[in-house]
Amino acid sequence: MKVTVVGCGPSGLCAIKNCISEGFEVVAFEQTSEIGGEWNSNLEIGPNVHSKIYEGLLTNFPKEMMEFSDFSYDENVTDSFLTPDKVQNYFLKYTEKFDLRKHIKFNHKVINVQPISDNQWEIIVEDLKNDEYKTITCDKVFICIGISAPWIPKIEGLNDFEGKIIHSRDYRSTKMFENKKVLLMGSGVSALDMVIEIDKVAEKVIWINNFRQTHGAQIKLELSDKTIDKSSTVKRFTKSGAEFEDGTFEEFEIIALATGYDFTFPFLSVDSGISVYDKLVQQLYKQIINANRPSMAIIGLPLFSITMPLFELQIKFCLQYWSGRKNFPSKDEMLKVIQKDIKVLKIDENVHKAQCLGLASDEIYYNDLAQTAEIKPLKPVFIKMCNFQVKNSSKNYRNFRDYEFKILNDFEFSIECLTKEK
Ligand SMILES: Cc1cc2nc3c(=O)[nH]c(=O)nc-3n(C[C@H](O)[C@H](O)[C@H](O)COP(=O)(O)OP(=O)(O)OC[C@H]3O[C@@H](n4cnc5c(N)ncnc54)[C@H](O)[C@@H]3O)c2cc1C
Repeated sequence: MKVTVVGCGPSGLCAIKNCISEGFEVVAFEQTSEIGGEWNSNLEIGPNVHSKIYEGLLTNFPKEMMEFSDFSYDENVTDSFLTPDKVQNYFLKYTEKFDLRKHIKFNHKVINVQPISDNQWEIIVEDLKNDEYKTITCDKVFICIGISAPWIPKIEGLNDFEGKIIHSRDYRSTKMFENKKVLLMGSGVSALDMVIEIDKVAEKVIWINNFRQTHGAQIKLELSDKTIDKSSTVKRFTKSGAEFEDGTFEEFEIIALATGYDFTFPFLSVDSGISVYDKLVQQLYKQIINANRPSMAIIGLPLFSITMPLFELQIKFCLQYWSGRKNFPSKDEMLKVIQKDIKVLKIDENVHKAQCLGLASDEIYYNDLAQTAEIKPLKPVFIKMCNFQVKNSSKNYRNFRDYEFKILNDFEFSIECLTKEK
């Protein structure tokens, strides 16, 4: 069995490792020159830069929830919330331990993936260093490319604005905001991190915090008087500012959009069986398997969920079928399951139909994957930690990283607050 893995961030590395364990032949393509995906960061921006990590970032989940079941962080990494270089170091060691590098072609960007028969794919790859194109064929494809296309809200007048517009994809530091009047839109983790930092250096910040229904929308931060937490939305932009729905008008020099990402698979041919509409990737059995062509899987789509343990679960789910240990249901059955899951997991109730499960449905999803494929379920302790983490960050966003976690067993964890509890 020949498998192609597209992308060598955490999910791609886990896919390579588990395919090798199955005895499959694996070739993985990575467009940058190193593994790690989002964690392979040097704070650059540009067309070939994938990572969106910014200065001062600490992980928003403890490292205890950011590792694969077959490899742990070094004992000398004691903190729970880590700087990106420590996370990247974990993935470098994971790559070394399982000897994954020999399967990876770096500086190779996948530009076309097309079915050539029911069970075969043709992949065209651009060798970025040598400016050459190569074509290979394979039996199965794992797509592990994370997110990279910014989602920009369609608001009247955005193109007329004469100041600077930046999306959080390109945010690396607060330098450009020093002594400026800024409008910041967004309420996810990046927006929260950004507003805390921009508040320190800008002349004024107008923060539209109710933009999306992420958990950040409920979070209240103690910010300086320079920052206005605006509850009204923008009606239209003008050359120098914006008119708001509540009838007020504000002037500013920079618009910072922390408005999230769109799912795009620019290399998939029209007959690949995958389409994306309004941020929902279709038709995916269990949000993983291409129901039209089950020899393709997409890993890591559910947003706002546990990352590494979920990627591993999704990959193992898929390999139960690709190895022949289980048979896929028929296409019709898979399509029915998709319709049912969309209701159970409330996927279509999320704003913009993002492929997020909604926190309440995470556990249902994880357990369903394990039961359906008859594989080991996710340890309940991860779900407990995740729920604690979400509540704790909502309660006190500024200090939620001041904790050390310890997993005691499959069900329990302990925490120690490293600063005076607030
Ligand atoms: C600012 C920020 C902070 C985050 N913080 C956390 C956190 O604290 N904890 C956490 O668990 N998660 C966090 N995440 C989520 C993070 O995306 C995941 O941890 C993880 O990196 C996702 O892994 P992935 O392999 O699916 O995708 P990525 O890490 O995005 O890797 C995808 C890889 O695919 C490659 N690629 C893309 N297209 C192609 C192509 N056409 N051809 C070849 N290669 C291609 C890219 O170059 C990249 O190397 C954060 C994300 C962001 C943006």
